[in-house]
This record gives sequence, C-alpha cells and structure tokens, in this order.
Amino acid sequence: MSLSVSIQSFILDIGPILLVSFSLSLFLFLNWYFAYDRIKQKKEKRLWLTRNMRSLVRYGDLMEQLEHLGQTTPVCKQCNDFKMQLWNHQHDELLVVRCRSCKINYTLTKDHSDCTRLILSNMEWAIELINILIKNRHKALGKFLIRKLALDPSCIKPGINPLEVFCFSAKKEDEFIIDPVFEIVLNEWEEVLPLGDYGIRTHVA
Ligand SMILES: [Zn+2]
Repeated sequence: MSLSVSIQSFILDIGPILLVSFSLSLFLFLNWYFAYDRIKQKKEKRLWLTRNMRSLVRYGDLMEQLEHLGQTTPVCKQCNDFKMQLWNHQHDELLVVRCRSCKINYTLTKDHSDCTRLILSNMEWAIELINILIKNRHKALGKFLIRKLALDPSCIKPGINPLEVFCFSAKKEDEFIIDPVFEIVLNEWEEVLPLGDYGIRTHVA
C-alpha cells in the first residue's frame, strides 16, 4: 500500500516535468526540422536556378513569340472570344491552340508564321518546365518560379495539360479560314496527320 502511494506520489511529482520536457523536445525538433527543410529547399532552388538560369530568359522569349502569334491568329470563329491557349503539338510540324471560352481547337502548321516555328521548337522544354513547377509548387523553387513567371498559382496543379498555362490574345481581324490554318477537334484517340501542304485529317488509332 505504501509502495503504491509512493509511486503515485512520484508520478504526480515528476509527471508535469516529463510533460514539459517532452513538449519542449518536440517543439525544438519541429523547429529544427522545418528550419532544415527550409534551408534544403532554398539550396535546391539556388542549384536549379544556377543550372537553368537560361530558362527564365527562354520563358520571356516564348511569351514574346506568343504575343506575335496573337497578331497572326484570328479570334475564335465559333464564339468570337480572343482568349487562346496552347493545347498540343506534334513534333515540329503542328501546333494546336484552343479557345479558352468554347474549347474549340485550331491546328496551325509550322508555316502559319515564323513565330509558330519558334514556338514549336520550344514545346518539349515548356512542358518540362511546367511539370517541374507542378512538382515543386509547394516548395521554394515552385513558389519562386510561379511568382517570377507571373503565373496564377491556382492553375498550377497536377492533372492539367502543361501547355494550357501558356495563354495569348488573338488579335487578327480576318476569319479563321485562311491557308494554311485548319480547324480540327483533337481527342486522345485521334491522330493528326499532315496531308501535303494544304490538308490535315484525323483518324481513329
Ligand atoms: Zn471559342
């Protein structure tokens, strides 16, 4: 009985001290962990920027090319909206742009304009850049790039088409029927094939 009382008394005496010690240790550990993680993320960001500094310049160039593309692209012939986005590409030959309003796709051949050719040559790199952004969106690198490239953070999320991030305004007044611009609707199960200089057809794979 007296042993039980002395154990109970010991626990009552030492309990609060143990609780405070544990809380303090946990607090210090979490502080250390988050500080370490912050330092690690900043280091990763610095390393990426050192190796990919050219990417920021290249992004600026691509945005300029999109501005030029807008000058040679008519507004949507279905809904008259001028807001467009990149949607797909095939090698260095075909560039698919999409009306952001009614979602109709337009396919431009590389001969649509000089900037189309330049944009096509950047597509693989652009997709890779946006995938890096999506992967690191909650880390220092992703947050820095989203801010630096003036992107909407709510649009950078898994499952998006990386190319849809690249938007531009169509400013050409003519209708969307001039050669060599063709309208198609792309689905995942369709393949787009160029037919000579003036034709494109789709077929079910
Ligand atoms: Zn439209």
